[in-house]
Amino acid sequence: MDPLHQPLLDGDRRALARAITLVESTRPDHRARAQALLDGLRAEGRESLRIGLSGTPGVGKSTFIEAFGTHLTGQGMRVAVLAVDPSSARTGGSILGDKTRMERLARDPRAFVRPSPSATHLGGVARRTREAIALCEAAGFDAVLVETVGVGQSETVVASMTDLFVLLLAPAGGDELQGVKRGIMEIADMILVNKADGELLATATRTVADYAGALRLLRRRPGDPEGFPKALPVSAVTGEGLPEAWGEMRALADWRRETGHWARTRARQAAHWFEEEVRAGLLARLEGDADARAAMRALAEEVAAGRRAPAAAAAEMLGRLTPPAG
Ligand code: GDP
Repeated sequence: MDPLHQPLLDGDRRALARAITLVESTRPDHRARAQALLDGLRAEGRESLRIGLSGTPGVGKSTFIEAFGTHLTGQGMRVAVLAVDPSSARTGGSILGDKTRMERLARDPRAFVRPSPSATHLGGVARRTREAIALCEAAGFDAVLVETVGVGQSETVVASMTDLFVLLLAPAGGDELQGVKRGIMEIADMILVNKADGELLATATRTVADYAGALRLLRRRPGDPEGFPKALPVSAVTGEGLPEAWGEMRALADWRRETGHWARTRARQAAHWFEEEVRAGLLARLEGDADARAAMRALAEEVAAGRRAPAAAAAEMLGRLTPPAG
C-alpha cells in the first residue's frame, strides 16, 4: 500500500498536499504511483459535497470562499479549496494563483487551501483537478470547493466534476444580464449575487430579481425540486446571506441524494472521465512515438494535397497504432 494512503485517510493535510503534487506530476513513474494510490483510495468510498464556483475576476470569489469556507468550518465541517486556473497552464501567468489569497481560511485547522498549480506542472488542468478532488474526498473533507474564473470552457469542465455548480455575479444593471452566456446559466444550480451590501444593496436586490426571472425561463432540470436553480443575494464582506446560500445548497444536495440523481450524475461523470482518459492516452501515445508522429505528418500532407480523404487517412493511422512495448 502507498505510504500516503493511511495518512490521507487520517486527514493529514501535509500528506494531502504531497499527494496533490504527485497527481500534478507528468513523470511516468509518478503517474503510475498516482493511479495506484487513487484506485486504492476510491475503494474506501468516501464522498464530499463537491461545489464548483465560477465568476469573473473582481466579482469576489476569494473573499466569498474565505467567508463561506469559514462559515462551514465554524459548523464543524472540514473544507478543501482547489482552483482551476485555465490561464496558468498555457501562459505561465495566473488569474487565480497568488498565494496570499484566503489567508484566514488557509490558517484554519479545518480547512485546506491549495493554490492553483504553477505552469511547471504540465499535467492536464482537468485531470489534476479531478484527481485532487478525489484526494480531498479520501482525506475526509466534507466539502470541496472548486474555484474557476469565468472564461472559456473552464465552467463546463468544473461542472462535469462537481455535484453543485454556483455562479457568483456582481450587482449590475439589466444590460449586463445579457453578458452571462446562456450555456453558463444552464449549468448553474445557483446564482449568488455578491456585494449585496452598502450602496450596492439596492442594485444587488434588483439583479437577483432579474436573474431569478431569467432562470425561470430556463427549463428546470429533470429531478430537481421546485424553485431551482435559484438566485440569492450574498455579501462576502458582511456575511449576510451566506447561511441561506448554504442552506439552499444543502437542500438541493439532499434532494438529489434522496432521488438518486446524485448517484446517477456521479456515475455519468465517472464514465465521461474514463473516456477522456482513453482519449488523452491515445493522443499521448501518438505524440510520444516518433514513428507515429512521422506517419501522422506524412498522412496529413497527403490529405492536405487532396490525395487522400481525411477519414480514410485517419483509419490508416489508427490501424498503425500498436500497444506500447512492455
Ligand atoms: P475575485 O477576483 O473574484 O477573487 O475577487 P476578490 O475576492 O479579490 O474581490 C474583488 C474586490 O471586491 C475586492 O476589493 C473585495 O474587497 C471586493 N468584494 C468582495 N466581496 C465583496 C462584498 O461582498 N461586498 C463588497 N462591498 N465588496 C466585496
